[in-house]
Amino acid sequence: MTSFTPLLDRLKKRTLLDDWISELTKEALKKFQPDVLGLSVPFPGNLLGALRIAETARQVSPGTKIVMGGGYVNTELRNLTDGRLFDLIDYLTFDDGEVPLEHLLAYIQNGNGELLRTMFRVDGKVVLHSNPSLHDVRFKNLDAPSYQGLDMKRYVSMMETINPMQRLWSDGRWNKMILAHGCYWKKCTFCDVSLDYIGRFDPDSATGVVDKMEQVMKETGVSGFHFVDEAAPPALLKAMSEEIVKRGLKVQWWGNLRFDPFFTKEVAELMKRAGCIAVTGGIEVASERVLKLIDKGISIEKVAQVTRNFKEAGIFVHAYLMYGFPTQTVQETIDSLEVVRNLFQKNYLSSAYWHRFALTVHSPVGKNPDKFNVKLAPVPTPKEGLFALNEIPYTEPNFVDHDELGVGLRRALYNYMLGLGLEMDVRDWFDIKVPRPKVEISF
Ligand code: SF4
Repeated sequence: MTSFTPLLDRLKKRTLLDDWISELTKEALKKFQPDVLGLSVPFPGNLLGALRIAETARQVSPGTKIVMGGGYVNTELRNLTDGRLFDLIDYLTFDDGEVPLEHLLAYIQNGNGELLRTMFRVDGKVVLHSNPSLHDVRFKNLDAPSYQGLDMKRYVSMMETINPMQRLWSDGRWNKMILAHGCYWKKCTFCDVSLDYIGRFDPDSATGVVDKMEQVMKETGVSGFHFVDEAAPPALLKAMSEEIVKRGLKVQWWGNLRFDPFFTKEVAELMKRAGCIAVTGGIEVASERVLKLIDKGISIEKVAQVTRNFKEAGIFVHAYLMYGFPTQTVQETIDSLEVVRNLFQKNYLSSAYWHRFALTVHSPVGKNPDKFNVKLAPVPTPKEGLFALNEIPYTEPNFVDHDELGVGLRRALYNYMLGLGLEMDVRDWFDIKVPRPKVEISF
């Protein structure tokens, strides 16, 4: 959404949910009377609620300074020039929040000082202040996350889908932790690798992670952990598992990783002993040519070995799949489905989900479109200035309407997850004519 106007229009309307958010905001402001209110916006879907909180705070507590940060801000608002956002909030901070917030709090208190990656409005213009001599804290030197003040009993267990992995995401309450800042691989060409949260790899130590787990468990009374790394580093996962086993900790955990050949049968069994219940990872397009173009650094055969190792160790395996990558042909999409069918048939996967490829401005494809044979469409700047910038429309010479294939792909996967239709010809899931799979299955 490059223009802020649709969001401002939406804020003028109110639903029951908007009223609830306002009421809860008023209660919290009355109770805490904060000088500064911090809003974390991890995803686009959280933005409207955050703006409603900000709008309410502006009305009932005009002296409170409002700061916004989080994944959505870091990804989409870096090029912001539309100053109207600062009618609702005072500051945006980008990337890791600890040091920017520390300096911003001093700046607010003293009325001056140095800032790090902090955006605000001065005389109607949006400005970014960032002193290059200020630096983030090394990840391993950060404290354990604290959930103090959150009433754990008020978390609602939700069951919004039959997909068992998505249920794990939303059902119940998990302590969220990270093993490393950034991704150890940081090469995949569709991924936002130029952003700090992916591109700057800075891991914790195994003992540091397990110390923090013990501390968080003590505080929350919850022994389940969700590691929210983009791709957990394999050697650290192994060392952490050894440390958990050594200390005799009784924990359950799951997280996202890359299906790296490092995960042998022995490593998978060790992870299981240490409490790992599930892993999620990207197979993306199960085609050798496209996997090379994506620079995933894996082959179909290796993926099959790794997923089998996890499944045989008793660990649930969820795969992210992608379709519509630039230059991907219909044949490659059908071949990819044939690979996925075989993975399910051999019981190497428990669950999976198809994502339609989206070209983002921070990815290698967005930065070097010629290399991927695509042309980026110009992004129009609204007259009030640019709001968000992330996904960019594009054209490619041999355009394939992958949206047409999406229905069949999802239908096949839905059935595979129920153990149905695994013997059927993959072409039968489509309403349109598609080619016979040509891929040779070697696993
Ligand atoms: S897609 Fe995953 S493995 Fe690849 S660079 Fe991004 S975070 Fe790393």
